[in-house]
Parts: sequence; C-alpha cells; structure tokens
Amino acid sequence: MASPDPQRLSLNTATVRERWNLAQTIEGCARHGIRGISPWRDKLDELGAAQAARRIRAAGLTVTGLCRGGMFPARTAAGRRAAIADNRKAIEDAATIGAKCLVLVVGGLPQGSRDLAGAREQVKEGIAAILPHARQCGVPLAIEPLHPMYAADRACVNTLSQALDLCDALDPGKTGALGVAVDVYHVWWDPQLQAQIRRAGRKRILAYHICDWLVPTTDLLLDRGMMGDGVIDLKRIRGWVEGAGYRGFHEVEIFSARNWWRRDPDEVLATLKARHRRRS
Ligand code: ZN
Repeated sequence: MASPDPQRLSLNTATVRERWNLAQTIEGCARHGIRGISPWRDKLDELGAAQAARRIRAAGLTVTGLCRGGMFPARTAAGRRAAIADNRKAIEDAATIGAKCLVLVVGGLPQGSRDLAGAREQVKEGIAAILPHARQCGVPLAIEPLHPMYAADRACVNTLSQALDLCDALDPGKTGALGVAVDVYHVWWDPQLQAQIRRAGRKRILAYHICDWLVPTTDLLLDRGMMGDGVIDLKRIRGWVEGAGYRGFHEVEIFSARNWWRRDPDEVLATLKARHRRRS
C-alpha cells in the first residue's frame, strides 16, 4: 500500500519526554518538519496552557490530542468528584491549546477493590458527567482502550468494542463529541480489531497512535518499540483505519526507558520520520 502522508505525522511528547521539555519538543517538531504534536499534561504545565498554545501556534503545529483525562474510578464519592474536577480542567486546557481531542485513559480498579464491573460503571458515569462540559468547550473526548494487562491500574476499558459501546450509550447521535483513540500498542492483538474499526468509522475515530510491540516485551509500561522493530502489522491496521474514513494524524507514542528515551531526541525524530514513511 502507499506510504503514509508525512504531513500527517504527529509526535506525542511521551516519546522524548526524558530529554526535552515542551518548548524544546515544539522546536524539534518544527526543525524536523513534523506537523503535529500531542502533549501530556505534565509537559503542558511547564509552560502553562496559554503560553504553550502561543508557541505551538507560532510553530504552525496541529495539536492532535491532549494526554490525558480519565482515571474516573475511586473508592469514595469525594475521590470521584475530584476526578471529575480534574477532567474539567483538562478539557479547558485542551480547548486553550486547540487540541483535536482529550484522550481518556479511564482508570482501573479503585484501591482494594475487586469489582471490575463496578469500576466500569464508574467510568461510564464519569464520562457522562464531563461530556456536557466537553461539548461546551468544543473538545471531543477520545476513549483510549488499553491492553488488558493494564485493567487493574490504568484502564478497565480494554477493547475497541467496549469503548464503542460506551460511545453508543453516551452519544447515540454520533455527534462527534465522543469517540475513540486507536492505539495499535493496545489493540493490535484483538481478533475483532478490523470489524470494530469499521464500526467506529470516521465519526468515532478521533486519534490514531502508533509504535510497535517488541518480542519479548521486558516492561509492561516502558518498553514500546519503534515502528518496524516489532510484530504489529502497521500497514494493515492503517489500511483499516483509513478504510473507515479516518484522515487525521498518525501520532507516534513510544515509552521506551531502555532505548529511545536514552537517545538524542534529534536522532529519535529523524528515525521515527523515516519509519513512519517506510514501515507504518
Ligand atoms: Zn496512546
């Protein structure tokens, strides 16, 4: 299949987070001709949302997402209210920087709990609670299903099917206010992936995150691979996503404590540009 459009490449700040602050990452994207950026909130806080927005705009970058909101389940009602308040702040920051979406990592089991179904219900209630504010601010919410190995501590929404069920329940009109972030690292193994991408369609796919799955994976969180170094059929999945009508950015998000985080970020950006073109 045809190579991806280099204009649609976006850099998630997690990929260079150990070496570059947000200002350096914005400059790096501009220097390497990368047109999109997706900051994490810790990086955004370095500059403040307003200042970050000015710099990102001056560099001509598209903000493909803000990472992240979510983390809804909590043991107490006060804890759940605090999560809602934090999500409202994230929505406002996403609006300030003109993010295409706020990515939701929904949260796992509350501390000491074994009630997975209950946690999932809390996620649904949490998203329902913030959706009106997101609509008002014009910030679409992108539920990111995470690989099931994170069900306990990060996200109890683990498949695209589950995420789309939430979208259908909370936004049955497919208004564009609620959708999904398809991150290949989390969903590549799913036998239903192609069917669920088709089900999501253009209206529900708000972001597309790429990296690769290394064999063996030596750390559950911090050992993601560069595109082409692992076993994910990235071209095939991109074909499905584009076939569903998605025309947005391809966001490179690589948590790699033992490899890419140790390298010169300029080398990382040059590598991911080349791998995006040839191997994604
Ligand atoms: Zn992601």
